[in-house]
Amino acid sequence: MSENILEIQSLRRQFGETIALDGVSLTVPKGGVFGLIGGNGAGKTTLIKHTLGLLKAQSGSVRVFGLDPVADPVGTLGRIGYLSENRELFDWMRVHQIISYTAAFYPSWDPVYAERLRRDFDLDPMANIKTLSRGQRARIGLLLALAHRPDLLILDEPSSGLDPVVRRDILGAIIRTIAEEGRTVLFSSHLLDEVERVADHIAILHQGKIQLSAPMDRVMLDHKRVQFRLPAEVDKFPGNGIWLQAEGSGKDWSVVTVASTEAIQEATVAMGALIQSIEPISLEDIFVARISAKGLEQEGRS
Ligand code: ATP
Repeated sequence: MSENILEIQSLRRQFGETIALDGVSLTVPKGGVFGLIGGNGAGKTTLIKHTLGLLKAQSGSVRVFGLDPVADPVGTLGRIGYLSENRELFDWMRVHQIISYTAAFYPSWDPVYAERLRRDFDLDPMANIKTLSRGQRARIGLLLALAHRPDLLILDEPSSGLDPVVRRDILGAIIRTIAEEGRTVLFSSHLLDEVERVADHIAILHQGKIQLSAPMDRVMLDHKRVQFRLPAEVDKFPGNGIWLQAEGSGKDWSVVTVASTEAIQEATVAMGALIQSIEPISLEDIFVARISAKGLEQEGRS
């Protein structure tokens, strides 16, 4: 039995002229919180739709729990909880109606948990769905995705529309609880401080390609910012293939790298430079360095 919940191989998807996914290969291990990050239009939602069988692979393959979600929706969808980016809901229903309607689809539905979430989320059971605010729609969407206790919870931009308290306290707690129970969360986000806080593993998607996929602690350990003082002023930082991104001017440069300390020392000696400091950097800085057009010569090494 595979220990990967999701296995994607060479997945490609084109909409007319737009290449949304350009040969994506990605595995999501069982258990834990997997953060999929990328800018607007990077391909996150398209990738998620393939995992749900809502889009069929034009080429390449997608396996969820070892199954093809298009060929076997019964074997996959019943074990997945999904919060869509647009929070599609039946607008003509009331809150209590959409809860019992959704419950009917899932043998594993937990009514006690559903009621607890309804109270935690402060949702009036008699409220009309069409009158709910964006944040309330996100809350009911989250409730519906969670209450059948799925093996895989997929959240597309879960924080969008949620106020900071729900985002930080409730969503954070839910995500951690699921991971602690050995279940898996896959969520997309462009709120990188949030991803840094909750994810165990991240993948960066940029222009339909995976730039990096690795455990969070390794990503944070591997990337660092080095402040250099060069012996002479330059317009462009001397690239030797180990720098991801360089910013600066004259003699003072700030460079992001995944190189080892030895490799950095070696390059420093070769440049006749001085290292002013080596510091850890935030996930946001890592993301910018990885997708930056200013990236130097080098594809990622993590
Ligand atoms: P965002 O963070 O803005 O939601 P995303 O990373 O989720 O972006 P996608 O929605 O997957 O990105 O879109 C990837 C690319 O594919 C974009 O250029 C988008 O315009 C295009 N695209 C997605 N769905 C369709 C569609 N049904 N028809 C045409 N183009 C599409």
